[in-house]
Amino acid sequence: MHAAAPTRRAVIGGGAALLTAIAAAAPFARARAAMLDPQAVPPGPGAWQQGGWMRAMVPPGTVSADLDGMPLAIAPDGTVFAGFDRDTPATATLGLTDAAGRRSAMPLAIAPGGWALEHINTPLRPPGIPDADYVARRRIETAAITRARQPDPARPLVEGWRQTMIRPASGRFSGRFGAQRIYRGEPGAYHGGLDIAAGTGTPFVAPADGVVVLAAATPFTLEGRLLMLDHGMGLGSAFLHCSTHLVALGDRVRQGQPIGTVGMTGRATGPHLHWALAWQSASGLRRLDPLLMLG
Ligand SMILES: [Zn+2]
Repeated sequence: MHAAAPTRRAVIGGGAALLTAIAAAAPFARARAAMLDPQAVPPGPGAWQQGGWMRAMVPPGTVSADLDGMPLAIAPDGTVFAGFDRDTPATATLGLTDAAGRRSAMPLAIAPGGWALEHINTPLRPPGIPDADYVARRRIETAAITRARQPDPARPLVEGWRQTMIRPASGRFSGRFGAQRIYRGEPGAYHGGLDIAAGTGTPFVAPADGVVVLAAATPFTLEGRLLMLDHGMGLGSAFLHCSTHLVALGDRVRQGQPIGTVGMTGRATGPHLHWALAWQSASGLRRLDPLLMLG
């Protein structure tokens, strides 16, 4: 169902020590050139394609970094994380500014996602709910989701964004990220997550360390019993249609820890886990393909 796309798994995350050594020995501009040279960068995690991501260590002295103008947080060790939108153009630009105000721009070639079409035999809106009620409910629900995504300095620091993620549940992939969905002939938004088919009540686990930022006790209209994790550096997971949650708001969770059970609450044609990944920067949100975060 999901067309195989030419994937360039070029990486700068794995070369952190090398890049640091180069940067320490060379002026800023030369360090940047070394980062750009694929020959200088050993293989490691990362996916430079639509819906993919990058983890990179910026040269010492870098005071700010951005991806296409979206500001990137710089971890104390100089690492940055960024996500590439499902519709990112063929070239993205990583911008770096040093203490003297000198700015350098690094073009990144982003491979296409090759997104599929999926036909869904369900109406775009759930039947039987008057439009005004639906709109009012959605406003409250989306506000809660937006709030949960906002950075909160009171939250414990988690480093799940540095981990190679694991599958939250075993089972067949019944829906791929990025597919354009057609609901009984009516085009809807593209599919923003990875669907894993599993029976109601099947436990699922945290794909990486995180902190619980939303655990909807009352099912949301579309998402059902929604559970959201913050993995740090703006990276977050959402798990939709849960039957139950095994953790509560504010809980710190470890990779592999059971956090909920699969269900079909909200808009779902059968029991499955919808796992969505997003990267939130100060100026916007990028939806990522969960498959590209797995080892
Ligand atoms: Zn889904």
